[in-house]
Amino acid sequence: MSDVLVVGAGIIGASIAYHCAKAGAKVHVVDNDGIGKGASGKSFGWINASFAESDAYFALRHKAIDEHRALARELDIDQTTQWNGCIWWEDEGNDFWDQARELTRRAYPHEIIETDKIHQLEPNLAGPPAHAILTKHEGAANGTGLSNALLANVIAGDGKVSTDTKVLGILRDGENVVGVKTNKGDLFADNIIIAVGAASETLLATAEINLPMDNQRGIILQTTPTKPLINHIIMSTDVHFRQDPDGRFTMGEIFSGGGLNDAIDKDVDAFAARMLARLHARLPAAKDVEISHIHQGLRPVPKDGFPAIGAIGGLYVATMHSGITLAPLVGKMAAQEILHGHTEKMLAEFRPNRFA
Ligand SMILES: Cc1cc2nc3c(=O)[nH]c(=O)nc-3n(C[C@H](O)[C@H](O)[C@H](O)COP(=O)(O)OP(=O)(O)OC[C@H]3O[C@@H](n4cnc5c(N)ncnc54)[C@H](O)[C@@H]3O)c2cc1C
Repeated sequence: MSDVLVVGAGIIGASIAYHCAKAGAKVHVVDNDGIGKGASGKSFGWINASFAESDAYFALRHKAIDEHRALARELDIDQTTQWNGCIWWEDEGNDFWDQARELTRRAYPHEIIETDKIHQLEPNLAGPPAHAILTKHEGAANGTGLSNALLANVIAGDGKVSTDTKVLGILRDGENVVGVKTNKGDLFADNIIIAVGAASETLLATAEINLPMDNQRGIILQTTPTKPLINHIIMSTDVHFRQDPDGRFTMGEIFSGGGLNDAIDKDVDAFAARMLARLHARLPAAKDVEISHIHQGLRPVPKDGFPAIGAIGGLYVATMHSGITLAPLVGKMAAQEILHGHTEKMLAEFRPNRFA
């Protein structure tokens, strides 16, 4: 019997497990598949607070960036998290300036840079735009790598991770949740954490808990490696890309929207070829790289677009988009709430019982 049983070994479950174990709890993590194989392994991984649909959500994301840096120092993981900043011009014209004004209103550190400066920062970029937004403090993380690093620490302590273990339902003794039923038998714990990302609605329904999700499909591509060609995360109008420490590019088109889903449904290979052509056009020096991996993922998105984090029906739930950005902070806050009954004020707007 463990103190904490975490269902889901994506970046959110891994971070909650890590912080609970660090606080001295005996932790068991179970996953249907493997570590970081869900959305966390199919993500662009941009750590940012450039976009947030409410000020409370912005505050959470902004604080999460600091927590990411602290975690990266703590785990000594420079291969999974890079801090090279972002150059953004996904929108042009009025939309670009609206975004710049919004960042100023929120006092988010940024700089408007012009063609010469963009060229100076990224000499290999063809046709730099007239203006872009530079956010020097942003970064990117490899979700699978970070999940593995977090859980390696759990295992190195008193913890345990069981893969290929599917949770089928929640076990109760009267009103109290006491454990979970899995394909490998029943497991019992004092605290049950549901961090199953896009599968949240289905699994919680077995416990008659309503958490409506509006999960969105997304596609991320990786290329063959080449020599270092860019220094920042590049978010341009038609393709976003970053170069990993191993020389590969990770890239995608847009963060949401029907167009992307249609493109995936119609022809994944044609979509990948189109993205590669855009990368080659933006970065002619990368003309020899080819697509090596195509990752089709499901973004976990609660129905209203905001995270769902907190206690409900005897369980503790954590599911959200932008989980790569939020995981270090959410894991730390969740551990405080789970183990010490603390109520984190910053999470007040994101409780799962808003859907009850
Ligand atoms: C294409 C794409 C691009 C993205 N880009 C960004 C970005 O740039 N920045 C950012 O911050 N976020 C981004 N995201 C979102 C981010 O990746 C997710 O929010 C985050 O990975 C969610 O982590 P998670 O641990 O909640 O879910 P997951 O990583 O999906 O983990 C959930 C785990 O639960 C397991 N599971 C499910 N059901 C069960 C069950 N019944 N029993 C046991 N285990 C179960 C699964 O196997 C899985 O391993 C992107 C996502 C996608 C798909």
